[in-house]
Amino acid sequence: MHVDLSNKSAVVTGGSSGIGLAAAELFLEAGANVAICGRDGTKLDEVKNKLVRIHDEKRILSYSCDVLNRGEVEAFASEVEKKFGGVDMLINNAGQARVSTFSSTTEEDWREELELKFFSIIHCSKVFLQLLEKSTIGSIVCTGSLLAKQPEPHLLATSAARAGQLSLVHGMAKELAYKNIRVNTVLIGQVESNQWRKRFEALEDKEISWDKYKSQIAIKAGVPLGRMGTPKEAATAIFFLATPMSSFTTGSTIDVSGG
Ligand code: NDP
Repeated sequence: MHVDLSNKSAVVTGGSSGIGLAAAELFLEAGANVAICGRDGTKLDEVKNKLVRIHDEKRILSYSCDVLNRGEVEAFASEVEKKFGGVDMLINNAGQARVSTFSSTTEEDWREELELKFFSIIHCSKVFLQLLEKSTIGSIVCTGSLLAKQPEPHLLATSAARAGQLSLVHGMAKELAYKNIRVNTVLIGQVESNQWRKRFEALEDKEISWDKYKSQIAIKAGVPLGRMGTPKEAATAIFFLATPMSSFTTGSTIDVSGG
């Protein structure tokens, strides 16, 4: 089944790496205009240079923006409107996990974690809403975590924040349905990405290979399919929920967790 997204535009926050970048590539392949953001401008430039080797530069916007800074998100939205004229699909994907237990999470950590998981969605959804409202296929997809339903003690603050985030997104789905904007979530288990790469590089044991590390993580977590997912596998679920392929689906979740 081919989805033609010519003349449609997607915004992917955290599109400079991992799952977000894989999603941006799928939207570009389907003919959409794509705007990505992240905080690190150098990383964004590198990614843009790679993308423009394959796709028309006119369809790509990369913009340095911290999704926790409302002013920066507003400036990003203005650039997107100027370049593409509108937005049809918003992918709230930017973020990262926090490794901490109840004892080791400080009050400041809690505030940071809750701010990240809530305001990464609130700021971007509020700011891009006026553009999404003008679309005939408006949709928002949030990259959430399976931790929302299956908390882990060593990721306690992230698990709690992800559960709250899922409630927020379900509420938004109901409220925005009358504007014909669909809101859905992918619940990620363990997917290879920069986050995991950084944890691998921080290991004291330098003998262990990346492949062995990944398989150990999946085995330890008891993942039935016995491996970590790829960014493209997560991005494919995002693509499905963002596009009219899922035109009668809102307030829903897809687990991308290997079971
Ligand atoms: P990556 O680290 O590969 O990508 C994260 C992206 O988010 C980067 O582009 C990063 O760019 C950007 N980002 C982070 N914080 C901000 C911010 N405040 N403002 C703007 N951009 C930001 O990780 P993943 O692809 O794995 O992560 C994508 C999402 O999936 C995240 O929300 C993550 O928590 C979630 N997730 C991932 C899991 C996994 O196993 N991979 C499991 C569960 C959830 P920069 O650093 O330059 O800002």
